[in-house]
Amino acid sequence: MAKKQFKTESKKLLDMMVNSIYTHKEIFLRELISNASDAIDKLYFRSLTDSSVTLTHADYEIRITADKDARTLTISDNGCGMTKDELENNLGTIAKSGSFDFKTGEENQSEEIDIIGQFGVGFYSAFMVADNIKVLSRAYGAEEAYIWESSGADGYTVKTCDKETNGTTVILHIKDDTEDEKYGAYLETYRIRELIKKYSDYIRYPIRMLIEHQHKKEDSDEYETVKEDETLNSMIPIWKKSPSEVSDEDYNNYYKDKFGDYENPIRVIRQKTEGTADYTALLFIPSHTPYDYYSREYEKGLQLYSSGVMIMEKCKELIPDHYSFVKGLVDSSDLSLNISREMLQHDRHLKIIAKALEKKITSELSKMLKTDREKYETFFKAFGAQLKWGIYSSFGANKDTLQDLILFTSSNDGKLTTLREYVERTAEEQKKIYYAVGESVEKISLLPQVEAVLAHNYEVLYLTEDIDEFALQILREYDGKEFLNVCTENLDLADDEDKEKLREANEEAADLFTFIRDSLGGAVAKVQFTNTLHNHAVSLSSEGAVSVGMEQILNKMPGAEEQHIKAETVLEINVDHPIREKLIALFESDRDKLRDYSKILYAQARLVSGLTIDNPAEISDLVCDLML
Ligand code: ADP
Repeated sequence: MAKKQFKTESKKLLDMMVNSIYTHKEIFLRELISNASDAIDKLYFRSLTDSSVTLTHADYEIRITADKDARTLTISDNGCGMTKDELENNLGTIAKSGSFDFKTGEENQSEEIDIIGQFGVGFYSAFMVADNIKVLSRAYGAEEAYIWESSGADGYTVKTCDKETNGTTVILHIKDDTEDEKYGAYLETYRIRELIKKYSDYIRYPIRMLIEHQHKKEDSDEYETVKEDETLNSMIPIWKKSPSEVSDEDYNNYYKDKFGDYENPIRVIRQKTEGTADYTALLFIPSHTPYDYYSREYEKGLQLYSSGVMIMEKCKELIPDHYSFVKGLVDSSDLSLNISREMLQHDRHLKIIAKALEKKITSELSKMLKTDREKYETFFKAFGAQLKWGIYSSFGANKDTLQDLILFTSSNDGKLTTLREYVERTAEEQKKIYYAVGESVEKISLLPQVEAVLAHNYEVLYLTEDIDEFALQILREYDGKEFLNVCTENLDLADDEDKEKLREANEEAADLFTFIRDSLGGAVAKVQFTNTLHNHAVSLSSEGAVSVGMEQILNKMPGAEEQHIKAETVLEINVDHPIREKLIALFESDRDKLRDYSKILYAQARLVSGLTIDNPAEISDLVCDLML
């Protein structure tokens, strides 16, 4: 029979598994048992509403058989099973294909490990330990059964077969031992027992195996071999065990298995309360950003259990948006098993639980910030933007919760700082918290206004993320000190005498400024002298609520074209720079030249502020003319 080919992506993944150098090959057993358990779940859920399903909870089991002579390890379940089409579709393609862009020919070890964890390669992981796999399956209620067979990337076959009962049987032919890898150990009872304890102990259905024991015969010193059916898992969910029984590694393994991550969580939060709401929560904060986190596909939510039985996979009411990165579950005896989604949204208990969880997460994050700064910064790099987004999108309602959890790079030492730390470092007289916005810390530190503020010995926060300035605008102030973008015309560093001088200079040059502004054809709202540029000639600032940085971000957003969002930009000319005299002289003597100079100055101001220019060829020609 001709072999069918795997879909391209699956074939690559399979190749990777067959030749895997991944050190935790043992996870294949967890993956297969987890599939078996899911398949039983499916049938069990169906039985709740479909009276034609006659199995009861006690009938379900997962069975392991090891045959050392044949070198096979068999995992079978009596769950929903698969039809012929399902066998082909589910095992011929990776379930989550498309979410990963395979780069051909350069799969290296770290990439492989990423894929194994991130995409839950699941069933295929069995090819790390087996050189041939047979899957016999019979869908519940179906007349016929099918066998899928494959020895790896060269394809697979599907044929009819005999199978008495519903469910799936996976038969692995275990690879020969090599120098480095003793695959045969996966056929040993002690090893299987160990792996089930480690990874699958909480599975809610019994994982059974016939195990040989040596029994002493009665009234004799002789021993006989007896086979006894043993259940290898405790079936107690991890959150129901007493904390002293559960190790950090147990939590980590549970998290990785159930929430499809390949790295340990950065923090595990366990909460058990009795009183207004009885519940146990087991929460995890991932240590890195999930690949789809900042996309529309990402859905927040916690698993919801009612006395140990899952009633919802993703209950989004339990977690606020600013903590949407938190994974985990809540088990409560106050919720009814049959509660509908609609009713749940209004459930009083759920609201109480959600409030308490938010408080708990906030306090755990604050604790991490105080006691383990390095870890917190890792967390913040992954999810900090979400906290800032939370400040912005709630119009400040979550301000008190979040403002002490956000960090910005400080001009002080280039490290991340909290607002509290900034304020503690500043003198009482300093009424502002200065910040500047740009693509990177390096670029921001080169802004003329930043240099000027630093020259006054003020600390500046460097904002590099799109959301940053929006969040600060919502906060408006921290501890009585207002936030100020140094690139706005409100920057005011001078003493009274200097201010007066500047005012006079600006007044005298009013006509000159009008001329320059008109020469620029409406590109700027205003032209003025400034004393905040240190040694630089020109720069751009803004007046009004929208800064130049915000203009750029807002215009990147969908639907921005219709809105024509524009910052009111101001061309700032250094009042102490010799260019001032030059411009005044040209205004009297050569206005054509002044027009050209205006364009060059404006282009320079844009470049200095980290912006692009619309007419580079024209500017280049003008500069060349100057050189000739
Ligand atoms: P995942 O479990 O992450 O979806 P797998 O590659 O492990 O990915 O499995 C692919 C699909 O094959 C599953 O989603 C399920 O539909 C089906 N499947 C795997 N094992 C079984 C089983 N024992 N019984 C029924 N269906 C199964």
